[in-house]
Amino acid sequence: MAVDSITFSADCEKCFGLCCTALSFDRSDQFGHDKLGGEPCQFLERDFRCRIHARREDLGYSGCEAFDCMGAGQRASAAFASLNWRQDSAVSRRLYARFSQLLLLQEMRQALVTAGTLDLPDENHAQRRDILARIGAEADGMAPDVTIAARDVLAEGKAFLRSLAPGLLD
Ligand code: SF4
Repeated sequence: MAVDSITFSADCEKCFGLCCTALSFDRSDQFGHDKLGGEPCQFLERDFRCRIHARREDLGYSGCEAFDCMGAGQRASAAFASLNWRQDSAVSRRLYARFSQLLLLQEMRQALVTAGTLDLPDENHAQRRDILARIGAEADGMAPDVTIAARDVLAEGKAFLRSLAPGLLD
């Protein structure tokens, strides 16, 4: 896939409100209450819309406004669209775990795309493109579970970025 056709934009219309359910947050100046991972936010409606969407900043939820899943939400939702995740907690746990892994994949993908602007030796760019292609295959595949291949290529991407900027990811 060409780099400029990678979708990093969140498409909330095609997502099951995963950032508002799968992730945890603590009451702070960014979030108005504590929430455990895997529990729907108290403001999340059945249709996955936020009841306080227009007033989030005023009500102390600026962290929600700042969050960007980079397209992980619609990818995980598409993979689970035909599965009974709403009624089956075992399936919903798989969905949330896959969403969390997709967040990491999309973040790494973005970092590797950005690294394409660096003035690096050709062999570095070749390695970057190779890792990027495998990250893309994992992120755009329809795997309904966390995969070992994704975990491994994430580790490879992290090691690659660390080799460019030692200490950056420590
Ligand atoms: S306040 Fe709204 S956007 Fe933030 S987690 Fe709750 S439902 Fe989602």
